[in-house]
Amino acid sequence: MRQFVAIISLLFVSSVLNAQTSEASEPFPVDTVMSGGREVVIFSNNKWQYLEDMLFDGILNKELHEMITEDTSLQLKTYWDNNMCFSNQNNTTLMNMKDSIWICVTDSLHPNFAIPVPGVLTSSYKHRGGRWHHGVDLDLRTGDTIVAAFSGKVRYAKYNTHGYGNLVIVRHYNGLETYYAHMSKLLVTPNQYVVAGQTLGLGGATGHAYGAHLHFETRFYDASINPEEIFDFKNRTLKDCNLVMKAEDFRRNKGAIAFRQAKPNKTYASTGRYHRIRSGDSLWKISRMYGTTVSNLCRLNGISESTTLQVGKTLKVK
Ligand SMILES: [Zn+2]
Repeated sequence: MRQFVAIISLLFVSSVLNAQTSEASEPFPVDTVMSGGREVVIFSNNKWQYLEDMLFDGILNKELHEMITEDTSLQLKTYWDNNMCFSNQNNTTLMNMKDSIWICVTDSLHPNFAIPVPGVLTSSYKHRGGRWHHGVDLDLRTGDTIVAAFSGKVRYAKYNTHGYGNLVIVRHYNGLETYYAHMSKLLVTPNQYVVAGQTLGLGGATGHAYGAHLHFETRFYDASINPEEIFDFKNRTLKDCNLVMKAEDFRRNKGAIAFRQAKPNKTYASTGRYHRIRSGDSLWKISRMYGTTVSNLCRLNGISESTTLQVGKTLKVK
């Protein structure tokens, strides 16, 4: 309460100051206060913003970003732009990379996911009508709720004139972005944090759309990858909690032989690694696969050495 009063009184003081110096100029910071454990910057025009939002550079997976930008062979650029849909600046890099990038689709910090809309898949990630279809289409009726696939921060939420219609783009904590197009109504705003399953808008047929559907894309540093590598839309599940991306995943024409030759010689992996249990796996076998010990696996997963492993479940391995 004291912090709230402090903000109010500062707003009052700054508005008095503004009245005295009425010249129109760019708003500038006049003070900072703490509110709810977060630093708030107060501007000369009475507006305020959280300091962490002001300093936000768009990177939600700092560890992976450092790995892939420090390496001179793979310099991916990133940005945080509420008006630009995507750039093509990273495509060539990703299509030619010799290494692979391993991300956690879900991890212990962000364990949840949601299928954006429960409709059937009507068109896949493929060459279609003389151009590449960068996402999948999911059937819906106008007005159906569209939800966020994973938690993250809304980068873009407005009408797009290049065919997407009403479009929401959410950036996630693993570096992926998801695109939700042709909506009839937008229910989020740029820079808003959302959680997996949260409503983003209502389905529709705005932009270039023949009939109501959700055009859904998944992109990593702007380059599209097949959403079906991540989601099983039929069973409404995740394919795996890990995603290993290689050059060919970014190659739109998957028939290109040159890119099939590329053998990964290094894997960039973010923290928290998971293993999906397959038939025949044992704790000992898994510990050898990941260079760890059985006791470590037990500790990480809260299990004992005698726990029966269930095929299809995931184990944290690091
Ligand atoms: Zn589509």
